[in-house]
Amino acid sequence: MTVPRSGRLVPARAAGTEGTGTFTVLDVGGTTLRTGTYDPVTATLSRVRRVPVEGIARHPGDPVPVLQDRVVEQIVHEITRHAGGRGTRAVGVAFAGPISASGLVLAAPTVWGRRGAPLPLGQLLARRIGAPVVVVNDLTAAAWRYAATEAEPFCLLTVSSGIGNKVFRGGEVLLDADGHGGELGHWVCDPSPDAPLCDCGGRGHLGGIASGRGVLAAARRAAAADPAGFARSRLGQLCDGRADALDNPAIARSVREGDPFATRVLRGTLVYLAQAIGAVFTSIGICRYVIMGGFALAVGERYRELLVEELVRLGCFGLDAAAVDASVALGRADDDHGLIGVGRLLADRTASLAHQEAG
Ligand SMILES: [Zn+2]
Repeated sequence: MTVPRSGRLVPARAAGTEGTGTFTVLDVGGTTLRTGTYDPVTATLSRVRRVPVEGIARHPGDPVPVLQDRVVEQIVHEITRHAGGRGTRAVGVAFAGPISASGLVLAAPTVWGRRGAPLPLGQLLARRIGAPVVVVNDLTAAAWRYAATEAEPFCLLTVSSGIGNKVFRGGEVLLDADGHGGELGHWVCDPSPDAPLCDCGGRGHLGGIASGRGVLAAARRAAAADPAGFARSRLGQLCDGRADALDNPAIARSVREGDPFATRVLRGTLVYLAQAIGAVFTSIGICRYVIMGGFALAVGERYRELLVEELVRLGCFGLDAAAVDASVALGRADDDHGLIGVGRLLADRTASLAHQEAG
């Protein structure tokens, strides 16, 4: 038997309702909690419901233990409500934060803030719900979604308010038992003392420079350094010439429309992302990169083209330009990554569990 590198199935700790054949899947982020039904036979997601998370975004002054209790109660409530009288065969949770293989939430900065004791969410839910539970990081879940359509190995990269990544290889997401791995966003790519701050508090991290938030900050700096150029640009036009009115939708739109000013700003941040990809490629030979995340997908195909241009300019040892172009793809522009991915992971884990029991 091989030990899963992430997402160990926690068996039910209490008598539960006999489930139907479907899974209840959840995606817990900093602002939204999504619940849905995943059918492992048809590999389809249905009945998706969205509610605001009862975490730090809604209750900013509350202590971490209070927020943890409230989020757990909310998750239990959503699962029970979703399953109705039908029960559920198993529960999968995609969660925004580092998670150990056994379903221990090690940190959850966007859900309950920076500090707080690790929370054994997998065990708590298995006891309360009476069904097997798997809890994984949300990007790990997303990688399982793409494992259905991507040839292995591949690296999933998300570029939204921050940056994260996961490598899928040999039927698993590469992580250690404590959930380490996939934190390219906190790689220090600019060691200078005045480098931009990351939302983790560190300085010069890739996630503080090349994320949507990082590109916005770079656009503000560029507008301050060249007010006339900014005023003449499409980006300046979209913001009435006011740098304080800049936002990511305006940046994404002006890049899509070919604005040289906004494109130059984005290029200046993409060089760091290209360096990070180059390091992953040269160290472990991953030749496929799937880019997702709100900011990258808002720019769309032009984002992919600009990233490929930077990779070709830097050079990917042993790959020609056509091979580099073929190595970068855009992900799907929807919010279902965590739900579909954790459903697929659950299908894999329950199948191997059944196999072990039969053997
Ligand atoms: Zn960081």
